[in-house]
Amino acid sequence: MDPEHHSKIVIVGAGIIGLDVALVLAEKGLGRSVTVVAEYLPGDTASTYTSPWAGCNFSALSASDEKALRWDRLGYFHLKKLASEKSAESFVSHTPSTEMWDDTPPYEKIRDMSAYLEDFKLLPSKVLPDGVKFGVSFSTVTINAPKHLEYLYKRLRDEFGITFIQQKIPNVQSAFKSPSTVAVFNCTGVAAGTLAGVQDSKCYPTRGQVVLARAPWVHQNTMRHGRDYETYVIPRPGSNGNVILGGYMEKGDRAERGAQPGRARSPGCICGAEAVEEGGTRVEREEVQIGGKRRVIVHNYGAGGAGFQAGYGMAVDAVGSIEDILRTITENPRSCL
Ligand SMILES: Cc1cc2nc3c(=O)[nH]c(=O)nc-3n(C[C@H](O)[C@H](O)[C@H](O)COP(=O)(O)OP(=O)(O)OC[C@H]3O[C@@H](n4cnc5c(N)ncnc54)[C@H](O)[C@@H]3O)c2cc1C
Repeated sequence: MDPEHHSKIVIVGAGIIGLDVALVLAEKGLGRSVTVVAEYLPGDTASTYTSPWAGCNFSALSASDEKALRWDRLGYFHLKKLASEKSAESFVSHTPSTEMWDDTPPYEKIRDMSAYLEDFKLLPSKVLPDGVKFGVSFSTVTINAPKHLEYLYKRLRDEFGITFIQQKIPNVQSAFKSPSTVAVFNCTGVAAGTLAGVQDSKCYPTRGQVVLARAPWVHQNTMRHGRDYETYVIPRPGSNGNVILGGYMEKGDRAERGAQPGRARSPGCICGAEAVEEGGTRVEREEVQIGGKRRVIVHNYGAGGAGFQAGYGMAVDAVGSIEDILRTITENPRSCL
């Protein structure tokens, strides 16, 4: 890392999770105190860089625990606002959606989502296809994932003054290169399983595979949640009529090895490995000693198949966990805690 770099806050990772943390910090007026360090940046493609491969929409595919429900809610309002105010630049669009389940989904999840999703309706059983037990329709958002990442990157850099450095770090502690750096956000996705200083054995890759097809007449999002499968059709905003057809999930090492873009079997077939955290996504503050000084690492990874919809809410919690440090930075920008 550049020895001249004196950012108080470093974010490792420029997938949707790292960029959402950068956005939440920038919205608090801290953009100029933030540097993002990442091996891959928006515009790059790599099998270990999940975000550009996402479908991508807001759906009920996410988890049903209290935190996941809250992150979904925050993400829905954040993405809906972008779709209303900056759809063309942000590549986020309002889209009608139908979701169906082969088994009845958790009651709490449907009750919670029904309270805020626009145009939410339960589908009468007579309209459900064979084998489907439960269905809903609502207004969702669809996202052109690679273009949305590029939008965030440019906005964070040009509007908020965030510095981006393209570099692979050998261990999480090395993100504290400058003595001024007081907090590091670890947003390394699948790499959290192997990165020295983290090596989280509960973090494993799951392969998601999708096909990009041309179907300009499809303007509706459709998902079917099976017992051991997921299928979906997602129109891709700003792509001149492309849709994403999914999906497929495969857990563990084979998933990561299989998630090589070059190994895709059909020309429009894309796949990526998403990080899943056993026991739920990890958003957690850790106190560490670096060069004899008290420093903080905030871990923020393991979003599974929901990083775009949950990322903003996860960022709100991750940033909220260091409010005490942010207050010191804001009140005394020259301080080095
Ligand atoms: C096929 C598919 C479909 C999906 N569909 C959806 C969907 O419809 N909706 C949804 O919400 N989600 C969806 N997802 C899930 C979503 O894509 C992920 O949850 C999200 O991309 C995870 O983002 P991330 O930032 O944690 O990881 P990543 O995007 O992998 O980013 C990790 C970052 O960390 C950096 N990094 C790692 N190690 C180091 C190091 N040592 N030094 C420096 N930098 C490092 C990388 O370079 C990269 O910048 C889908 C995923 C797939 C694969």
